[in-house]
Amino acid sequence: QKAEILVIGGGYGGATAAKYLRLFSNNTANVTLIEPNAAFISCPLSNLVVGGSRTLADITSPYDNLSKRHGVKIVQDSVSSIDPEKKTVKLASGKTLRYDKVILSPGSSLLMNSIEGLAQANKAGVTLQAWKAGPETVTLYKQLAAMRDGGIFAISIPEAPYRCPPGPYERACQVANYFKQYKPKSKVLILDANQDVVSKGALFKKVWAEQYPGMIEYLPKYNVTGVDAKTKTIKFEIQEDIKADVLNLLPAMSAGDIAVKTGLANANGRWVNVNFLNFESTAQKDIHVLGDSIQVAYAMPKSGHMANQHAKVAAAAIVAELSGWEINPSPVLTNTCYSFVNAKDVVHVASVHQYIAAEKTFKPVPGSGGLSPAPSTLEGVYAWGWAHNIWADTLG
Ligand code: FAD
Repeated sequence: QKAEILVIGGGYGGATAAKYLRLFSNNTANVTLIEPNAAFISCPLSNLVVGGSRTLADITSPYDNLSKRHGVKIVQDSVSSIDPEKKTVKLASGKTLRYDKVILSPGSSLLMNSIEGLAQANKAGVTLQAWKAGPETVTLYKQLAAMRDGGIFAISIPEAPYRCPPGPYERACQVANYFKQYKPKSKVLILDANQDVVSKGALFKKVWAEQYPGMIEYLPKYNVTGVDAKTKTIKFEIQEDIKADVLNLLPAMSAGDIAVKTGLANANGRWVNVNFLNFESTAQKDIHVLGDSIQVAYAMPKSGHMANQHAKVAAAAIVAELSGWEINPSPVLTNTCYSFVNAKDVVHVASVHQYIAAEKTFKPVPGSGGLSPAPSTLEGVYAWGWAHNIWADTLG
């Protein structure tokens, strides 16, 4: 009987893994992808939707090719529990599926309780995160559009690690770009729990000073502890309260709920430790975890590009294991994250990570990678090229 491989989550990690399991096995592996959403909506580039220069349709792709071209079975559902002893997963619809291998790429979860009052404020529609691209992304844009000129947009950033290190700073640029055109008396406040800008710091700071003078205020070491939905007041560990008009508060994050619930989050109770040669969880055999949910090695960001790379290493290792092939992998992962600083100019950060067998971890290759010298429109073209390529690689 053929091995059953269940892929849970059809985002950057899971969709790539499903496709490459089929490709690497010469279309022989039984691969089922379980994902609640009918289409793939990209978080990369979603900040352009927040800033109003793009729509959700520009960053949405169908899942059809995975089934039609690659023979992945797609189940539109979500997994409510995994039983590693019985090797079964239970779906929200009530069905139970058996597995030999699970690939789990559920993204990251927002720890709503880490900010007092946040859950209630979200419920009241006063705060939202839009940290998973979709309807909230559009709502955030609408909140900006409805805001008075002279109002304040506040975005808060939790202590790293969190999904997409440069993402919040890119979002601040996109909101400021919108304000510059339509609400020039308004302000963007960046409330950062970190000591300094976590990614591309010098580049972002230069952009804020040159392109958005007086509009973006950056406040490091501002750790948000609470929010009052009625008065739209943000509370901090140390500093005085701040009021804002549009509140985009990002709480601390963890591995996706289903990973935590299954008992896999054995790194500080928040992230999943994996064996980097096949991305198998160190807590449970035959459950391989990818993407944002894992405890990353040295300087590996929680990015879509990285999740895509994890997926290929895991898929190759699983196909080899199930086929009885002897392989001696020495994986190398690459990453590039582009950030739009306005509607067309972009900066990037790139890195290369080599598996070091003696240390069982990935380390950046000395002298590799780097940063843009300055924002450019040409890099904007590259950024869209990157997006169309990775969407084709993941789903095409
Ligand atoms: P996801 O892509 O989020 O996929 C997780 C999937 O699992 C989802 O589709 C979800 O519906 C599904 N799922 C969750 N739980 C279950 C369950 N119980 N059952 C079934 N399915 C489930 N990365 C870059 O590389 N470049 C960028 O420019 C970039 N920009 C970003 C900008 C923003 C604003 C944000 C928020 C993120 C950005 N990222 C970027 C980061 C990137 O989106 C994530 O790192 C990436 O999506 C992680 O992939 P993943 O597979 O771990 O999770």
